[in-house]
Amino acid sequence: MTNTGRHYLAIPGPSVVPDRVLNAMHRASPDIYSGELHEIMPGIYEDLKKLARTKHYVAIYIANGHGAWEAANTNLFSPGDHALALVTGRFGEGWAQSVEALGVTVQRLDFGKQSPVDPEAVAATLAADTDGRIKVVLMSHVDTTTSVRNDVAAVRAALDRAGHPALLAVDCIASLGCDVFEMDQWGVDVMVSASQKGMMTPPGLGFVWMNEKARQASLGSRWRTPYWDWLPRIDPSRFYQLFGGTAPTHHLFGLRAALDMLVREEGVEAAWRRHERLARTVWTAFDAWGEGEDGQPTGIGLNVAAPSSRSHAVTTVKFVSPHATELRNWTQAHAGVTLGVGLGMAPEGDFGADGYLRIAHMGHVNTHMTLGVLGAIEAGMSALNIPHGSSALARAAAVLAS
Ligand SMILES: *Cc1c(COP(=O)(O)O)cnc(C)c1O
Repeated sequence: MTNTGRHYLAIPGPSVVPDRVLNAMHRASPDIYSGELHEIMPGIYEDLKKLARTKHYVAIYIANGHGAWEAANTNLFSPGDHALALVTGRFGEGWAQSVEALGVTVQRLDFGKQSPVDPEAVAATLAADTDGRIKVVLMSHVDTTTSVRNDVAAVRAALDRAGHPALLAVDCIASLGCDVFEMDQWGVDVMVSASQKGMMTPPGLGFVWMNEKARQASLGSRWRTPYWDWLPRIDPSRFYQLFGGTAPTHHLFGLRAALDMLVREEGVEAAWRRHERLARTVWTAFDAWGEGEDGQPTGIGLNVAAPSSRSHAVTTVKFVSPHATELRNWTQAHAGVTLGVGLGMAPEGDFGADGYLRIAHMGHVNTHMTLGVLGAIEAGMSALNIPHGSSALARAAAVLAS
C-alpha cells in the first residue's frame, strides 16, 4: 500500500519539488564560461527581487539556510560588535547562535514558543541602548518550529520610534513566496532565504537580499572573507564571481523554472492568497478536531492562538503526547503522507516532544494535497482511537469553497 501512488512529503522543508523544476535540472552540464547559463542570470536576479519586493540587491550562495545566515553575518559584523536577536522559536535562537560564534555579543529578547515579537519590548530595548551599540536587529518572519509569524513592519516602526540606527535583518527561509512580505515597503535592510521551501527548488541555494544602507554598512566589516563577501556577487567583474567559483549549474536551471511558475505565471500576490486559503483550511480542521463531542476539549489544538500571528506556510499542532508521533508514524506507513516532527517545542527525547507535529503547506501545494493530508490525519486518528471532534473535513472544505 505504501509504495503505490505518489508520496506526499508534508514537512516544512524540503518541500515538494514540481516536475517542471526536476525536468529543467535533468540535462547535461552546461558551459560555465558562456552561453545559456550566462543568459538566464539577469532574469533570475530580476525575479528574485520581485519575489522579495525589493529593487536593491541579491547575492546567491551555494548553501542551505544556515549558510545564508552565515553569509549575512560575515558581511554585517566584525568581532566585538553587538546585535539584538528577537526569538520566537528554535530558528531565531539558531541565527543568534551563529552570530555569537563570530565573536559578536548577542542580546536576546525571547518571546516564547507561542507568541510573536512584541514591538514595544523591542522599542524599549533599543531606547535603552543610548550609545547605539546594537548594530543589527535579527528576527524570523516565520519561525518554522513554532509556526509563529511576526509583524516585521511593526518591528521596523519600533526601530524608527526609538530613533535607533540598527539595521533590520529578517529570516524569510520558511515564509518567502508564502506569506506577504514587502522588503522595501517595510524597511527591511537584509533578508535571507533558501531554495527548498516556498521556492520549490531542491536544497542547495541560499540567498541574501540587501538594500543600499546594508551594502554601505558591510564595507567596514572585518568578517567579509572572500567566499562569503557579497560585494562581488552583487557587482561582479567576471561571471565566476557571482558564485565565488563554479556556478550551481543545475540548481539555476531548476530555480529558473520555479521562478517562472511562482513569479511570472501565478504571480507573487496570487501565491500569497493561495497559501492563506490553504492555511485557513488546515486551521479550521484542527479547530474542529479540538472540540470534543461532549463539549470537552480533546487536547488537539493549534500552537499559535491568534490567526494574525500564524504562518501561512507551516502549522505547528499540539496533541496529547504521544499521539502526534503515533499519528505521524501511521500516516507515513498507511497513507503515503510524511508529516513534520515537532521540532524544538519540547526538549529532544522528552515525552512531551511526541505531542507535537507540523504540517507544511508551503510551495507547490494545492487544494487536493491539503485536503488529502487532512483526510489522512483524520483516518489515522480514527484508526488509533485518538479522540477528535467531528465535521472537520466538511468545515475545512467550506473554507475552500468560500
Ligand atoms: C529551514 C529554516 C532554516 C534553516 O534552513 P536550512 O536550509 O535547514 O539550513 C532557518 N530558518 C528558518 C526560518 C527555516 O525555516
